[in-house]
Amino acid sequence: MFDFLAQKFSSIFSSLSRQKTLDQQSVDQALLQVKDALLSADVPYDLVQQFTVSVRDDVVGQKLLGSLKPSEQFLKVVHDKLLSFLGGKDNLLFSAPIPSVIMVMGLQGSGKTTTIAKLAYYLKKEAQKRNKQCKILVASIDFYRPAAVDQLEIVAKKAGAHFYRAKLDNPVAAAIEIHRYWKEQGYELLLLDTAGRLHVDEMMLTELQKVDKELKPRQKILVLDAMTGQESLAVARSFDQSIGFNAAILTKTDSDTRGGAAFSFRYALKKPIIFIGSGEKPEDLALFHPERVASRMLGMGDVKTLIEKAEEKIKAHEQEQMTHSFEQGQLTLQDFAQQMEMVNRLGSLSSVMKYMPGMGGAKIHQEALDQGQAGMCRFRAIISSMTLRERVYMRLLNSSRRQRVAKGAGVTVSEVDKLLSRFDQMQQYAKLVRKSGGLRQFFK
Ligand code: GDP
Repeated sequence: MFDFLAQKFSSIFSSLSRQKTLDQQSVDQALLQVKDALLSADVPYDLVQQFTVSVRDDVVGQKLLGSLKPSEQFLKVVHDKLLSFLGGKDNLLFSAPIPSVIMVMGLQGSGKTTTIAKLAYYLKKEAQKRNKQCKILVASIDFYRPAAVDQLEIVAKKAGAHFYRAKLDNPVAAAIEIHRYWKEQGYELLLLDTAGRLHVDEMMLTELQKVDKELKPRQKILVLDAMTGQESLAVARSFDQSIGFNAAILTKTDSDTRGGAAFSFRYALKKPIIFIGSGEKPEDLALFHPERVASRMLGMGDVKTLIEKAEEKIKAHEQEQMTHSFEQGQLTLQDFAQQMEMVNRLGSLSSVMKYMPGMGGAKIHQEALDQGQAGMCRFRAIISSMTLRERVYMRLLNSSRRQRVAKGAGVTVSEVDKLLSRFDQMQQYAKLVRKSGGLRQFFK
């Protein structure tokens, strides 16, 4: 989602980097480009205007640091301003005191049901980290969309949460029934899915008001589809005026939407975005950190998110082993195979790349990424056709062994040779990845 702005911003900063000083004319020109980028990302005009005016005020009013280049000075001001638009430094981490009823609202198709499963999964995982169990009940009063209740039952199961099906079919009465069951059974959290409509609709809002009055949820969360752009702000305003809500979750940020909703929401609604959804699986939910998002929008990468992702998926001892090997310069093909396995567990090459500083906005063609991914699969197949001894002592691989390995992996001998010659570069691998861009060079 942030790639579009990252690309735009990086070209603005690179044209500024050719300037020796930051004069009025170059600032105006850069601001014009910033304006253009934001408007094309579907940020409302008045917000774009406020943003650029306040960047200009800061640039003009600031005693700019002599040690910074013009492009760096400008980047710093834009970054700080962006951060304040997105909600300031991280200060809100989602918390759900126990017991809590969390009512999840939004238009039909915005991703409410999917998000409830993700939220249940997230809350359970967080509790596990603290060696606790979290007793979560999920239930739905969405009797408007056919099969919505069944869908929730399925996704709740995937997320490992308990599901309750109300016997009553009037949404308000069913909400009361669910609430009673939740209390009686001693659950800690209730995640309640509500009915949406395709557009904001009086009946839907009135129904939600009644449920709100009866259940008095501690948290009311609005789910917004990032793909709807500016329209999502109008939707949020309607929900806010009629029912009110504490925070929003932005879904479908994995789509090629241009990030206008994420940029505008906090500033326009004065409420936080707490999570962003980036896929359909229970684990595709991440806390929204304004600082990280600002960095990603500016193409500065989101290394923290990548590290968190890596920490979750890579067992600590594997990481330690690899780090040790890198530091000692004693890499073997076995390490290489493990390294590729770790990258593989992080996701596709393209999903890893977007977190790398400077890579998010880079125009890497999908074709090149696919090639990289295919190359990686081939390399893994080749290494797995080697014996452990060959993986450790590469020089054992004479021509007949290479032929055997090639046959086993279903590739040509020249593919095996290619891997071995590239393996020399493997020593540089960790450094390359750290410095960004390593993966791209490696598998080209
Ligand atoms: P609801 O009508 O608001 O309950 O919406 P659903 O939860 O049924 O979601 C509508 C569609 O969007 C489904 O096909 C979901 O799988 C999909 N969806 C929800 N969240 C995401 C997301 O973050 N990324 C992607 N790619 N799809 C999502």
